[in-house]
Amino acid sequence: MTTIAERIIQAKSRVANAARSADRNAEEITLLAVSKTKPADDIRAAFEAGQSDFGENYLQEALDKIDQLQDLPLTWHFIGPLQSNKTRPVAEHFAWVHSIDRLKIAQRLSEQRPDTLPPLNLCLQVNISGEQSKSGVQPENLWQLAAEVAALPRVRLRGLMAIPAASNDDRQQRQAFAQMCELFIELQRHHPHIDTLSMGMSGDLEAAIAEGSTLVRLGTALFGARQ
Ligand SMILES: *Cc1c(COP(=O)(O)O)cnc(C)c1O
Repeated sequence: MTTIAERIIQAKSRVANAARSADRNAEEITLLAVSKTKPADDIRAAFEAGQSDFGENYLQEALDKIDQLQDLPLTWHFIGPLQSNKTRPVAEHFAWVHSIDRLKIAQRLSEQRPDTLPPLNLCLQVNISGEQSKSGVQPENLWQLAAEVAALPRVRLRGLMAIPAASNDDRQQRQAFAQMCELFIELQRHHPHIDTLSMGMSGDLEAAIAEGSTLVRLGTALFGARQ
């Protein structure tokens, strides 16, 4: 059986190889461990193997684990869909939210962010494959949303996130990621401090890194298959 520590080493070497192939520095790429559905003990094991950033999708499950792991200096990222009546615990317990696709959510997070904490880091989720069922702002509406979010006092606009339509075809994967990179570079012209392009999961991290990802979100590759 492969341990979580071994899987982290394997994932880091995948990231390093992908970075090398793209003539990029692997240190520019953050590894976010997506721990949804996995027990707190798995997160503890990953932390002991050097992992400190964790991503969760389901609020109540995440809050339970954050509570159980209070003794560890972990950085929590909320990466799932977020309803406006559930923003307060996210503002109070997370350092990042990757799934912002409307102003109302960002406004509430800004209002509810405790003064004792640094500003909440936000990424805008873009619906890059144009799928009706997927969350995310449409690319043509991105500029206005970014300007409005950037003006909020208690959040910090950090960049963009995407979950492209699943595909086994490397060329198709790269095309969606390349479009994201173009949007990111365009957005950086207006918001020079943005530094995070959150894209790439266990099945497509190589394509994402080839197209400029600065943060890959890995679940299965680190913790094994989910139920
Ligand atoms: C579940 C999830 C991941 C991780 O997916 P894997 O394929 O298991 O690596 C990444 N990002 C988001 C937004 C997710 O919901």
